[in-house]
Amino acid sequence: MRTVRVNTSAPYDILIERGLINSAGDYIKKVTSAKKVMVISDTNVEKLYAEKVVSSLEKNGFETGLFVYEAGEKSKTLDTISAMYSRLADFNMSRKDIIVALGGGVCGDMAGFAAATYMRGINFIQIPTSLLAQVDSSVGGKTGVDIAQGKNLVGAFLQPILVLIDPDTLKTLPEYYVNDGMAEIIKYGCIKDGSLFKTLEDENALDIIEDIIEKCVSIKRDVVNRDEKEAGERMLLNFGHTLGHSLEKIYNFEGLSHGQAVAIGMVMITRASQRAGLTESGTVERIISLCKKYSLPTSDKADVDEIARYCASDKKAGFGSVNLVLLKKIGESYIKNTPLNELGDFIR
Ligand code: MG
Repeated sequence: MRTVRVNTSAPYDILIERGLINSAGDYIKKVTSAKKVMVISDTNVEKLYAEKVVSSLEKNGFETGLFVYEAGEKSKTLDTISAMYSRLADFNMSRKDIIVALGGGVCGDMAGFAAATYMRGINFIQIPTSLLAQVDSSVGGKTGVDIAQGKNLVGAFLQPILVLIDPDTLKTLPEYYVNDGMAEIIKYGCIKDGSLFKTLEDENALDIIEDIIEKCVSIKRDVVNRDEKEAGERMLLNFGHTLGHSLEKIYNFEGLSHGQAVAIGMVMITRASQRAGLTESGTVERIISLCKKYSLPTSDKADVDEIARYCASDKKAGFGSVNLVLLKKIGESYIKNTPLNELGDFIR
């Protein structure tokens, strides 16, 4: 068993082990005195894993409920949250009871948001089943939903009390979604860990995925420990994301996955910074070949000015400027505040 301890305001452990999902209840029992557990999952994941988790919880004496919503980002709305609240209330959940998020990033975001707000806050546990959620969204405490005006515009910070990662769940994940998670893994190598980047170049990541997951959550843990509410260093995790988010918006979040958009964003911004002499030469070439190795796109035909325009509407953009995350070299990153009116020329 690998354990990564996260020392946020309320510390918690991330446990990583193959087959862990089958004994989820044993580990949950150790961290809560709850009587009731509401498992929240989507229509895809529920079929594969809900029964395993529920029976392990019941074996440990918990009374369990199950809330299942239609799989997909389209469900990430306040309407779904509202249905969750009703289910929690009908199940007579008290403030001492807990929610378990069983699924990918959307599930963790929504179940976490319901936990942050139901009765002004109850505890929750993450069992992420996608690679993206395992290496990224299950750590850090961001929860929320989309509204018509934008993604993740409504939310709350809430740290889970436990994260259980079972890499065996990746076996049932379509390759497209595995590659999606690989983009965030490559990102961690780029911003913080040159040796991780080298490992991804030399080996097949899936053969050593426990090592890779442990490495990535440890990096994110360190960053979040130092900057829980995203005032400074945590911004580095947005490498590739500023332009990536613009691309996702241009394509209306369809056709281009988050990981694909981030891969293109990492390449675009690094090509620009390398050309401007801000990044060690040869860096963008290494990123491009690594993205290709893991079947990620490295370019897009979208108009540069349109991409820059969309950056202005990003919720992380300040007044008239944007904090770009640039690489000094592979494994070393920094923030460069750039006026929005110079962004188009910078990335052209
Ligand atoms: Mg991301």
